[in-house]
Formats: sequence, structure tokens, C-alpha cells
Amino acid sequence: MGVIGWPVNHSLSPSMHNAAVRALDLDWAYLTFPIHPDRVADAVRGLFAAGCSGLNVTIPHKQAVIDCCSSVSLAVEAIGAANTLIPDGDGGMTGDNTDAEGFLRALDEAAPLDLDGAEVLMIGAGGAARAVAFALRGRGAHLRVANRTEEKAAALGEVVPFTRRDMEDAAASAALVVNTTSLGMGSDVIPAELPLDSLGASTVAYDLVYRSEPTPWLVAAALQGALVVDGAGMLLHQGAAAFRQWTGVEPPLDAMRAGLRSR
Ligand code: NAP
Repeated sequence: MGVIGWPVNHSLSPSMHNAAVRALDLDWAYLTFPIHPDRVADAVRGLFAAGCSGLNVTIPHKQAVIDCCSSVSLAVEAIGAANTLIPDGDGGMTGDNTDAEGFLRALDEAAPLDLDGAEVLMIGAGGAARAVAFALRGRGAHLRVANRTEEKAAALGEVVPFTRRDMEDAAASAALVVNTTSLGMGSDVIPAELPLDSLGASTVAYDLVYRSEPTPWLVAAALQGALVVDGAGMLLHQGAAAFRQWTGVEPPLDAMRAGLRSR
């Protein structure tokens, strides 16, 4: 098993998957493969020909690998990107995207919500947002989207202008507010762009940004009484969904969680 990307050394997946391998005492290993964009198809076919039992795919290859697949899941069709490849035993491979499943499992675990007909404000409209939008639409949520580049928001839901005031108004009536942007990733300051004043006890605030500490936005939302969900759960559950498909074995979530924390 392994992950392809360019670059890929920063990936947290090896810590998580190798912890699972150790916990289950499997004779497997999860490796990183830095693959230049010009060599993606050759590399993927070569790795599977050499007996690799499954691959994760990260930036910038998530779209390019779709052309290598003999079949793709509904999630890949809807999201337009694959993060998981599963060999089919006949020399072909199936592409899947486990981010949507990971997003929902983490939400159900930390803050179960009846999403059918629920108002949701999603901030951001990049690759992760497409997976979140697919997940939320599947649960019947009414999705409103604010993004710096407004045209991208329009492709995913009802547009909310990317101003703090408009986002505060939309957040006030939302059961769930999701930050899918990278805002808040490398700083200890609450990003001024994100809504905060309108979040309270009737809101779930979900930040996809993954850090070892909760993001400043989530800390502030929790102080106002909101139930908060951080990006660690999504990372764990998207990986677990891939592991399940590669091995046919139920992933050891506690070991994988500990593997992630050890990074
Ligand atoms: P992406 O495709 O590059 O999209 C980035 C998004 O952030 C876009 O909506 C972009 O707006 C917005 N953005 C970036 N800088 C901004 C700024 N300074 N001001 C306002 N908006 C800004 O990236 P992605 O793959 O969707 O990832 C987004 C975040 O989600 C990252 O932090 C990533 O680590 C996280 N993520 C977490 C998980 C997990 O499992 N926890 C999974 C996937 C992604 P424009 O469209 O205007 O550029």
C-alpha cells in the first residue's frame, strides 16, 4: 500500500496506515511514492503490476489518475477526483473518493445531525469542498456556499457573497457551518474572513483544516457554545474507508488515531 503525490513526504497517511498494519499484525507496509506528474499512469500501472495492494492519491494527481481506472465510484464521478485506487485483480483498477465518507463519519461520530432539509453554510469551493458538497447533498441538506472566487461557489450550491456580514447572516440560520478553505492552517489568529459572532449552541462548526491543536476558529466557536468538529476525524475516516477496501479487514480506528497523533 502507499500514497502517490508530488511532493508527498509531508503526508500523514503512512503513520496512520502503518499503525493499522502493526495493530493487525499484517505482513504489509504503507510507503510514500513521489511521482512526477508526467509519469503518473506508468507509475500507477507499474506499482499494481508489482503487487501493490492499494494506493492513496494526493495533490496534484487526484484528477489525472481517473484516466488510469477501469471503473470509478459514484463519488469520483460527482467529485471529479479520486483519492483511492483499488486493484481489480484483472490488471485494472477502481478509483474511489473516500473524503465524502470520511467527512460524514467524523460528523456522525462527533456531532450527529439530521441533515435532511437542514441549512448548511459551506465556506470554500475547492477540491475538499466538492467532496463535502457531494456528502451533504446525499443526506438531503440545503447547501449555501461562500467562496473567495464566487464562480466556483455557484457550481456547488446557493451562493452567499464572501463577506463576513453575509456569512454571519447565513451562519445564523445554519445547523452546520463548514470551513473547507485552508484559512487558519498556519496561524494562531482567527481568520477575519470566517463567521463567528452568529455561531452558538444551535450550531455545529466543522473545520476541515487538520492541525495537532484545534484551529483558533474552532476554539472561539466552542467558547460561544457551538459543538465543534475538527479535521482529524475526516482524515482518519477517509483513510479507514480506503484501508477497508484494500484489505477487506475492519480498520483498527484507535490504533490509526494514535498513529496520526504521533506525527
Ligand atoms: P483547494 O482545492 O486548493 O481549495 C482551497 C480553498 O480555500 C478554495 O476555496 C480557496 O478559494 C480557499 N482559499 C485559499 N486561500 C484562501 C484565502 N487566503 N482566502 C480565502 N479563501 C482561500 O484545497 P483543498 O484540497 O480543497 O483543501 C482545503 C483545505 O481542506 C486544506 O486546509 C486541506 O488541508 C483541508 N483538507 C482536510 C481534509 C481532512 O481530511 N481533514 C481533507 C481534504 C482537505 P479560491 O477558490 O478563491 O481559491
